[in-house]
Amino acid sequence: MNKEAYLAYLEKRKHGPKVNYYQKAIDEIQALEEAQQKPKLLLHVCCAVCAGWPLEFLKDHFSLTLYYNNSNIYPKEEYERRKNELIRFVHEVYGESVSMVFPAYDNVSYTKELEPMKDDPEGWERCFYCYEKRMEEAYRYATEHDYDYMTTVMSISRQKDSQKLNEIGEKLSKKYPKVKYFYSDFKKKGGQIRRDEIVKEYDLYHQDYCGCIYSYQERQKKIGNQ
Ligand code: SF4
Repeated sequence: MNKEAYLAYLEKRKHGPKVNYYQKAIDEIQALEEAQQKPKLLLHVCCAVCAGWPLEFLKDHFSLTLYYNNSNIYPKEEYERRKNELIRFVHEVYGESVSMVFPAYDNVSYTKELEPMKDDPEGWERCFYCYEKRMEEAYRYATEHDYDYMTTVMSISRQKDSQKLNEIGEKLSKKYPKVKYFYSDFKKKGGQIRRDEIVKEYDLYHQDYCGCIYSYQERQKKIGNQ
């Protein structure tokens, strides 16, 4: 790992100039309302906890499909647990009005790709790779299935850099120009407070590590099991 580059990144994340992606989301929604349109949006979702507020935010403005492509999650039981909790939550709150797609799970191949970056701290290049990989899978699916927009719920997380996620979205929108990227910053303007309220209201399972085997091992170290 390049420590200097990492420290420079942290400094920029804290103090550097920022694009207001929350405002971009509001502007896009206003334009859709004026045009009286409700387009199709494919939403990459990593778990029920992170999905709660983005779903509430988007549901009146888009016809939503959730895309749960999270082969990063280790072990498989955890992947299934988050998936089943998402299904329970969506059925309870949205019934059949929100559809879901579950592509094949392959954590072995995924981990092989992350392995060269295994010593990176969380929130650095291994994670950037992981965001982009899952977002690109979703973008490809959105393109192949004629969606109008694609976005991810991941900007709700305090640990995840919204600027970076939106930059990845922008890059992918150039690679897959048939589908627009919906810029967003779900953690802003009370998003995290609402997220926590939804977690409480629906008693959602709240995992204590991000997902991959490396974040799992870090968590195990913290709780003293290694
Ligand atoms: S910590 Fe989370 S975002 Fe980072 S590589 Fe692991 S699963 Fe992906």
